Amino acid sequence: MKVWKRLAEKDPIMVSACLLGIHCRYDGRHSLCPELVDFVTAAVFIPFCPEQLGGLPTPRPPAGIKGGDGRDILSGSARVINAEGNDVTAAFKKGAEEALKLARLTGTSIAIMKDRSPSCGLQTPYCDKPTGMGIGATAALFESSRIKIFELGSNDAFPSEKFLRLIEKE
Ligand code: SF4
Repeated sequence: MKVWKRLAEKDPIMVSACLLGIHCRYDGRHSLCPELVDFVTAAVFIPFCPEQLGGLPTPRPPAGIKGGDGRDILSGSARVINAEGNDVTAAFKKGAEEALKLARLTGTSIAIMKDRSPSCGLQTPYCDKPTGMGIGATAALFESSRIKIFELGSNDAFPSEKFLRLIEKE
C-alpha cells in the first residue's frame, strides 16, 4: 500500500500519546484511535504528552485556558486554570517547550495531535475566544515553530485524504 511506503520514508512523526492508547489523559484514560494504531509499525512514531512533560500528574483535574487561547499563553496574556482553581500555566508552557525540544532532537516536522485538547488541539473549546474555539498551547508552539500539525480524534478515519496531502507536501 502506497501510504505505508510513504510513511516508512518519512522523518519521525510526533503523536499525542493518548491517541495510541497510552493512559495519559487528565482522567487517567486514553483516546485510542484504532485506525492510527494500525500504522504504528509503518513509521517512527514518537508518542508524547505535553501535560505530563510539563510535570502534571495523571490523573489530574481538567484545565482550560482563560483570557485567550494557546497563542495568548505563549505571549503571556492568558492563563491555564484547572477545575480546582489552580493556575497550571507554567506546566502547560513547560510541556509545550519540552515537546518542541523532543521534536527538534528527533528531526520531526509533522505531529499528529489529539483534537479538542487545550494542549494538543488545533481547535479547542477549552479556551476564551469569541468564536468559542482556539488553538491549544503546544499546538500553538508547534505551529509557530513550523511543525505541521494534523489534528485527529479517536473516532476519525486514518489516514484521511487531508493527512495524505500533508505528507505529500513534505
Ligand atoms: Fe496528553 Fe495531549 Fe493526549 Fe492531552 S491530548 S492527554 S495533553 S497527549
